[in-house]
Amino acid sequence: MRILIVEDETLIARDLAAALTAAGYVAEVEADGEEAWFKGSTEAYAAIILDLGLPAVDGLTILKRWRQEGVSTPVLILTARGSWVERVDGIDAGADDYLAKPFRIEEVLARLRALLRRASGRAEPQITVGSVTLDPRTREVTVNGTPSSLTPLEFRLLNYLFHNRGRAVSQLELSDALYSHDHERDSNAIEALVGRVRRKLKADVIETRRGFGYIVNIQPK
Ligand code: CA
Repeated sequence: MRILIVEDETLIARDLAAALTAAGYVAEVEADGEEAWFKGSTEAYAAIILDLGLPAVDGLTILKRWRQEGVSTPVLILTARGSWVERVDGIDAGADDYLAKPFRIEEVLARLRALLRRASGRAEPQITVGSVTLDPRTREVTVNGTPSSLTPLEFRLLNYLFHNRGRAVSQLELSDALYSHDHERDSNAIEALVGRVRRKLKADVIETRRGFGYIVNIQPK
């Protein structure tokens, strides 16, 4: 099982990775918040250990973005000692459990096991709209059963629209959800991206609502 460790403190990250590897997991370490967000929303991990105190983009922001995008990977947050505010904010933002620093590795492993046990019963089902089926766990999209090769960004667009189906999503909301940097935010880019996804799917699941944005209808025409 692959576990993503998001931690900028090298020593802690190294100890965690070593302990997880020894326990039979495949551990990946990421120190950069933006990179971690991207990996968490494009790759399939069994769970994520997320330090809230990261430089540049903090852990809470990343967690909120994942949950907004429909990423339901179980997340164990690492918070500063005694900071109950962080714990409350973290759980409100969608964390499944927390550990305050400093922690014992044994406790991390125990909590991780509990998290994975709980998650196995609530794995998110596939979402089907018309001929298109999206599997949030495997990040796979099929059209009439045939796999479609979407890029990670294209998948995220479709994933976001599928999770918000039945509601018009504006271009601004989409660029907030898909891009991390302001300079990438551009309505033409969203339009082009939607166009590429439509062409690849060859199915009319994304409709344009003039003045409102895009909508995936629950019951497509
Ligand atoms: Ca830190």
